[in-house]
Amino acid sequence: MASIFSKIISREIPAYIVAENADFIAFLDINPLAKGHTLVVPKIETDYIFGLQPETLSGLMLFAQRVAKAIDGCGFAKRVGVAVIGLEVPHAHIHLVPINGLHDIEFSKEKLKLSVEEISTIAEQIRSKFM
Ligand code: 5GP
Repeated sequence: MASIFSKIISREIPAYIVAENADFIAFLDINPLAKGHTLVVPKIETDYIFGLQPETLSGLMLFAQRVAKAIDGCGFAKRVGVAVIGLEVPHAHIHLVPINGLHDIEFSKEKLKLSVEEISTIAEQIRSKFM
């Protein structure tokens, strides 16, 4: 069965997509730790990030760098933190989380509740900075 992220890639389910190319996609996390919390995902469906082919893993990181620069450009926080967890969704992905301190990237903390307007604005900001 297709992963939830494959369903986002195929547009079966909606997401706030902020960047995409032939091999990778980035969209806002549905339960964000911070404004601008973004997931960067290879379109090929592999569970474990270290199970990816080397060229896909390196391509994912290079794509994530471009997305992180776009997020940085939005000024949500001091810098963009990077994490790989992969315990919930069995489709490799990288979390990009705007952070000012360690607590901002604590995955067990309560997630933000944002309005649709706030989420749309954040997505549009990141999209507009993506190069
Ligand atoms: P992990 O697999 O890295 O432990 O966590 C998966 C992440 O994907 C979580 O931060 C969760 O909020 C996010 N997530 C799970 N389902 C969806 C979804 O349907 N849409 C989006 N945008 N994010 C999701």
